[in-house]
Amino acid sequence: MSPLTRTEAQQRATTIRVSRMVVALDLDQGPETFGSRAEIHFEATAPETFVDLRPVGVARLELNGQDLDPAALVDGRLALAGLEPSNVLIVEATMAYSRDGQGLHRSVDPADEEAYVYGHLFLDAAPTVFACFDQPDIKAPYAVSVRAPADWRVLGNGAATRVAEGCWELAETPPLATYFVTVCAGPWASVEREHDGIRLGVHSRRSLSEALERQADSLLNATADFFDYYHELFGIRYPFGDYHQVFCPEFNAGAMENPGCVTIRDTYLFRGSATHDELLTRTNTIAHEMAHMWFGDLVTMTWWDDLWLNESFAEYLAHRACVAASEYADAWVDSTMARKLWGHSAERSPSSHPVAGSPAQDAQTALNNFDGISYAKGSAVLRQLIAHIGDDAFVAGLRDHLQRNSFGNADLAGFLAAIERESGSDLSGWSHAWLETAGIDTLHVHQDTGRVTRSTPDRFAKVSRPHTFDIAGFTSGTAVFRVTGTIDRATRKWPELLAADRAEVVIPNASDLTWAVSGLEPESLANLPDALASIPDAQSRAVAWLALIDGMHEARIDPRLLMRTLTMAWPLESNGSILGRVGNHVITRAIPVFLPPAEQPGGEEAMATAARRLYDGATSADHRLIAARLLAATSGDETLLRSWLDGIDLPPELVDDSDFRWFVVRAMSRRGLLDEQGIESFRRRDESLAGQQAALAARALRPTAEAKEWAWSELTGNPARSNYELNALAGAFWQTTDRDLVSPYVERYFTDVPGLAGRLGEDALGTVAALAYPLPLVASRTLDLSRAALARDTLSPAVRRSIVDAQAKLEEGLASRAAFPATG
Ligand SMILES: [Zn+2]
Repeated sequence: MSPLTRTEAQQRATTIRVSRMVVALDLDQGPETFGSRAEIHFEATAPETFVDLRPVGVARLELNGQDLDPAALVDGRLALAGLEPSNVLIVEATMAYSRDGQGLHRSVDPADEEAYVYGHLFLDAAPTVFACFDQPDIKAPYAVSVRAPADWRVLGNGAATRVAEGCWELAETPPLATYFVTVCAGPWASVEREHDGIRLGVHSRRSLSEALERQADSLLNATADFFDYYHELFGIRYPFGDYHQVFCPEFNAGAMENPGCVTIRDTYLFRGSATHDELLTRTNTIAHEMAHMWFGDLVTMTWWDDLWLNESFAEYLAHRACVAASEYADAWVDSTMARKLWGHSAERSPSSHPVAGSPAQDAQTALNNFDGISYAKGSAVLRQLIAHIGDDAFVAGLRDHLQRNSFGNADLAGFLAAIERESGSDLSGWSHAWLETAGIDTLHVHQDTGRVTRSTPDRFAKVSRPHTFDIAGFTSGTAVFRVTGTIDRATRKWPELLAADRAEVVIPNASDLTWAVSGLEPESLANLPDALASIPDAQSRAVAWLALIDGMHEARIDPRLLMRTLTMAWPLESNGSILGRVGNHVITRAIPVFLPPAEQPGGEEAMATAARRLYDGATSADHRLIAARLLAATSGDETLLRSWLDGIDLPPELVDDSDFRWFVVRAMSRRGLLDEQGIESFRRRDESLAGQQAALAARALRPTAEAKEWAWSELTGNPARSNYELNALAGAFWQTTDRDLVSPYVERYFTDVPGLAGRLGEDALGTVAALAYPLPLVASRTLDLSRAALARDTLSPAVRRSIVDAQAKLEEGLASRAAFPATG
């Protein structure tokens, strides 16, 4: 199938207007396929067009009462000719369920053999569920009906009513874009209530009902509070009726903003203990999808090149809502440690692009823009916009933008016009610098001269980005100064700096208001291991940790300095987001990619020692859980691991926590301390979906040639494997200290994984290709093979993008090892 191009979409939107979609799905036809009937009522101003349709078989194609020749369906497009001003197209077809989380995904729960289906029509999967004009700016009201097994419950965008046994009718919706139409069906467990006239529901697989019921109050309270907050902020009521949040199995993204029926990955329903940061992330996701009800659903970007109008806003608004209306007032600290880490990495890759107007020539390459630029940078840029024009003008502009474009579409120019009207400022220069030009600046502060400098790496165009930010100086755990200002040129004198006392550690962008790398001076860097833990505010500490990590990735900072800071400052850290995110980055990146192989065992020992220190001194269950997971991952203490596996010497919150047990099982399997039968015995104790997937990972981690060969053939040669099963295998495969064991697979990666294109949807494949990339095999041979693969023109867009980004990370490892070689 050839993806819809931007030009085709623009052309089609000028000649087609859909007035109503009537869709009937039959989900009671067995495990492989379902029936789909679409009736499209549309007006046309040209005699010809085409409709998007990807069935496994068609039973009826009828335009204005005339049968169409099935041969008119070629490559996912049904050609329509002889159009009248007003038309009705009827398509009856058989469609296939997916196993890759795209389209109508069907999953059987191994815990009780119950089946569930959910629609994830993002980004261009709608034609695998019903015939449609699949582009974001052809919106229509939907009247959906569903036939399903008698004991199922059906949920969707409109409120669902059971009209007869197994027959459901969904209330007709306001105009919706095709990509966020959904139906979720199965024997769901549900908790529901009403808030401010809105019916709220949370739903999960029946086998997760205990977790759902335990967490429903927290989920629904947050939802209610965010509705209150957004209603006040936007001045427009939520327009889509009921608000259901369905926790779905094997979900590709964090969540999807289907109006009235948000789908969320069900790994967010925690079976056991969860960290503060995991709960914060989930709450942030709830707020993010709710923000989309306005930014994305009520007003939709015209084409995917303005994706930022959805994602940058949802990212920014969710953090703002968490700080203002939830218990997670530290949401911006997590943003620094998680989202900026992701976004800065995106800027270092050749795939970096402007926030707005980045090319999305067709609906397949558009997927590439769902990255750290569109989310994290876009959000930071909106904070800069507020610093530039003030919050009142910003909010007034948002309201105007939403009101003018309700149930329609918008683009960059329209948004800027609304903000300019409210702020009275000309934003064309600001927009050019911040929204329409790629790149990240580095900020340096020179205490001796009182100068602040701003530099842009050579790979980016030089533009004058005005940064508004603060600089904080700390000595012996006390803030010595904090000054705020703006810089829009290469260097600027900041007189308050000269007047301030000299500080041990100086942190540019300490409150993380702008989008920049904080370039710490040598004196500050040298003081960090001793001084970092005593800096009183978590936000400044997070910026300092990010500065260390950025410097390591840019081969400016020796990874051993990060490890030294880990040893000294990390166990004393109090913020859970910093602890968890830094710890994870150390074990997944700093040790395997940046430290030379001979120093990796020592790196793991250092992490284990730091985790032990945190564990022993933990003052909260949150810290104990973070420490226990990292200790399990890095400790070589077999006695400790075996006792934890047996549930001995564990804090009460981790006894009988099956997810924690899998952490220990995987860690022991990686070290060769568990055989197949050992893993199998734990799998039988936990016959849940999560347990089955964890067991797959544990088997793929075993350090034997047979286990690696098995894992590789399951990953690349077993078409029955779902997206999550492939992720489990891919994520585990390279984790070994025995490079000889896996080095034969480096070459195979570059042929076998691209070969999955077509069998696996692009969204799912992009994730698999990233996880399965041989990043820990930091060697020039890996780089040569990677470059050779990119020179081929046969890679699908998602595979190409994943290889480009992973290769950039590999090159960082190589550059760092060259700059800071092994000593002794
Ligand atoms: Zn989003």
